[in-house]
Amino acid sequence: MSKMSDDKPKFLIKSGKRLDGRKPDEVRPMEMTVGVIPNADGSAMVVCGKTKVIAAVYGPRELHPRHQVLNHKARVRVKYNMLSFSVEDRKRPGPGRREVEISKVLSEALERVVLTDRFPMCAIDVFVTVIQADASTRVAGLNAASMALADAGVPMRDLVVSLSFGKSYDEKGAGHMVVDLEKEEDNWGMGDVAYAVAPALNEILLLQMDGDLTPEEFAKGRQMADEAAKAIYDMQKQALKAPYQEGSK
Ligand code: UDP
Repeated sequence: MSKMSDDKPKFLIKSGKRLDGRKPDEVRPMEMTVGVIPNADGSAMVVCGKTKVIAAVYGPRELHPRHQVLNHKARVRVKYNMLSFSVEDRKRPGPGRREVEISKVLSEALERVVLTDRFPMCAIDVFVTVIQADASTRVAGLNAASMALADAGVPMRDLVVSLSFGKSYDEKGAGHMVVDLEKEEDNWGMGDVAYAVAPALNEILLLQMDGDLTPEEFAKGRQMADEAAKAIYDMQKQALKAPYQEGSK
């Protein structure tokens, strides 16, 4: 039987190593691929440890319902969905409050980088589907969504690089900042932040926090996340170039 995620671990860091053996500033093994849904205008898959997310982009295209049309720019509409079988305790299908909230914050982050004024009256639809969830799904979804938009050829000011950070306690009960939280760290940590930046623009696009962090802890976590973001940004760009290098595009 699988280990229930609500068995509270005694501590999340021991001898400087996290439960899965990572160092505090280390992200989980990541895989990034574009063009995973040929029928979409653009698509991407991001695997981050046991979290697996797909994003598909359709558009820019005519917007329905017509009363949502904006005369001066496109609407970037995001639908975030976590599949029933993506989590340990089956999730009720369909969007709940959590999905509505995540869809909204992802769409606001993407609107900041997409050149929406090039496509007045249009919709750019982004579907983010979580196939397997082990925490940090909204940030993985945002990474995938920005890559899917680039894969669709949608003009953007920058890619969105996103990851989580938070505070975990060690065997002595002391808190340490860590990046890219997995499920137990998300469940049992002392605070977590979903964070996204547009690195080339030096802009923050998403910042959501649960729990308590001091300003110093937040600054330290952010610094660690900015460092980790550089490697994620490189991986995203490499994944976007791969189809051209392989000759499949
Ligand atoms: N989760 C779950 N069932 C739910 C919602 C979330 O098991 O109905 C798990 C899932 O692993 C998710 C994690 O809790 O990744 C953290 O969820 P949160 O709302 O903090 O968002 P996320 O970290 O995924 O962006």
